[in-house]
Amino acid sequence: AVVPVITIDGPSGAGKGTLCKALAEALQWHLLDSGAIYRVLALAALHHQVDISAEDTLVPLAAHLDVHFKVLDGQLEIVLEGEDVGQEIRTETVGNTASKIAAFPRVREALLRRQRAFREAPGLIADGRDMGTVVFADAPVKIFLDASPEERAHRRMRQLQEKGFSVNFERLLSEIKERDSRDRNRPVAPLIPAPDALVLDSTSMTIEEVIAQALSHSRRIL
Ligand code: C5P
Repeated sequence: AVVPVITIDGPSGAGKGTLCKALAEALQWHLLDSGAIYRVLALAALHHQVDISAEDTLVPLAAHLDVHFKVLDGQLEIVLEGEDVGQEIRTETVGNTASKIAAFPRVREALLRRQRAFREAPGLIADGRDMGTVVFADAPVKIFLDASPEERAHRRMRQLQEKGFSVNFERLLSEIKERDSRDRNRPVAPLIPAPDALVLDSTSMTIEEVIAQALSHSRRIL
């Protein structure tokens, strides 16, 4: 039988990560954070001082990327070349570099098989930008989670403040808008809802409401 997939696509800061974890927990399914793969590739490029505007050098790096996702004591570890990079990949610099690298079609292609390998029984929750449109275009359940840029910048600011960082709202907002427009306007695998996706705008929803709607939508189909 075909292993079912629920795809969750949307811009950064819409709450995909939290939603995906909740769904994976509720259904006891596997989880793919595809953004983490792009981030790890960006970090590898930065570490190896690879020119991030040179698609030809990035493709072999992507194809041979030595990354492992391990669950240790219920915690996810992301290991690049033997080193846990779970924290390091979450910076804005790495996120921005990831979105630049992610615009190259052959880089995306080099990462396709790696992402599809996460599809294992009993099912997969796939978090990203092109999960429903490209990587798992045959998924039975697709959700596009959106929120206004201002709301996403507020959420991100609160997250960073909780971690003790001081942040400038206007700068955060402009970074979010810049990354969004790059992701939405690239010619290959742009950030766009799949035609058969349920679009949820979480701007004025609580995370609990988002989870409840996503679960009931999924259960109706599965
Ligand atoms: O979701 P996250 O912020 O971790 O993703 C980082 C960047 O990786 C995104 O801005 C996007 O450009 C890229 N990405 C992508 N396709 C995916 C997941 C992430 O292009 N499926």
